[in-house]
Amino acid sequence: MSSWVVDLEPVLGSEVHDPLVRPWLEEVFDSHGSAPAWYVEELAAQRQRELVAELVPVVLDQAEAALGHRPEMRVDGNTVGHDQVWAVTRALALVWIADAAQSLIASRDRVVWPVCPQHRVGQHPELRDGIAVWVCRTGDHVVDRIG
Ligand SMILES: [Zn+2]
Repeated sequence: MSSWVVDLEPVLGSEVHDPLVRPWLEEVFDSHGSAPAWYVEELAAQRQRELVAELVPVVLDQAEAALGHRPEMRVDGNTVGHDQVWAVTRALALVWIADAAQSLIASRDRVVWPVCPQHRVGQHPELRDGIAVWVCRTGDHVVDRIG
């Protein structure tokens, strides 16, 4: 498996060594063996589209609950708003999508979302202990899960 992962790097980038991506690669290896890089790239693209389709509504539900209306968000393949989502794991996809949604809402609607109720500043999507969370950097505390 290690030499296969090294072979994938020129096509898929250094993310192949990311511990978060590793379990997904192991699944691919278990079901497809040493698949060629182009094929793994296709599987990754498919996985990204599935995660985007599943998780954008989850993030929008959270935005709607806070804002009182559902923000409009264009989704095309793995593109959310103006950003592409490069994640093959659920937790990381949530962070990417939350970031894309936050950027779009900020640039288009001039609205800061979400806001830390304690410090009144914008929160940041992050991965902490493998969980996608909203973090307030002013108080360095986790405010909520994403989604
Ligand atoms: Zn705070």
